[in-house]
Amino acid sequence: MCRHAAWLGPARSLTTLISDPEHGLLRQSYAPRLQKYGTVNADGFGFGWYDGSRPVRYRRTVPVWADANLPGLAAAARSTCLIAAVRSATAGMPIEETATAPFADGPWLLSHNGRVGREAVRPLAADAESVCDSAWLAAAVFTRLRDGLPLADVLPAVVGAAAEGDPEARLNLLVTGGSHLAAVAWGDTLFTHLQEGVLVASEPLDDRPGWRAVPDRSLLLASPDGVSVTPID
Ligand code: GLN
Repeated sequence: MCRHAAWLGPARSLTTLISDPEHGLLRQSYAPRLQKYGTVNADGFGFGWYDGSRPVRYRRTVPVWADANLPGLAAAARSTCLIAAVRSATAGMPIEETATAPFADGPWLLSHNGRVGREAVRPLAADAESVCDSAWLAAAVFTRLRDGLPLADVLPAVVGAAAEGDPEARLNLLVTGGSHLAAVAWGDTLFTHLQEGVLVASEPLDDRPGWRAVPDRSLLLASPDGVSVTPID
């Protein structure tokens, strides 16, 4: 599984997800603490942030520690909404930027931790940016969001359909539109920390008190008004 994290709250730089916390995504790329599938996340990384309402993305296929430009870029990229991911490619999936989260469509940015049989997700979208399973899953979500369906309905519907096609699928999703976040826990860990804003991450970024585990098979929704967690049945 890859590792991902997001922030919604007062403007912060991307370093607050990557290199400032002791167990940020930089450390998690080579020494994750709770990862059950895979040992390192060195098959690429990607970040997204918002310039006003416009999402900006940076994706690479090198390990996050190997990009010498990243510290400066991450310090300069400040936003009220941030998303970041480090990747451990599933066997058989290509290592290319188009297979690397965050995937994007209009205002949306999406990351997937997990694995799903492509036969289960290909029927859910017309096309995808890459043959990677996560790209197909992202396309399934984006197609429905483009149709105007609410995120809170789209995620359980897509996860339900994918899990029906592949009961072994692991489908942790993290999605943002810039003013709100949504995350699915389905087959892997997910944690949240509320202080001045909302942090969501595959595993805690540090050892501060206050990290709470999100139960498996549930949907977390976060907006400036608050956070809710509901079971997905
Ligand atoms: N299946 C996705 C990929 O190949 C995500 C992998 C993961 O979560 N480790 O990139």
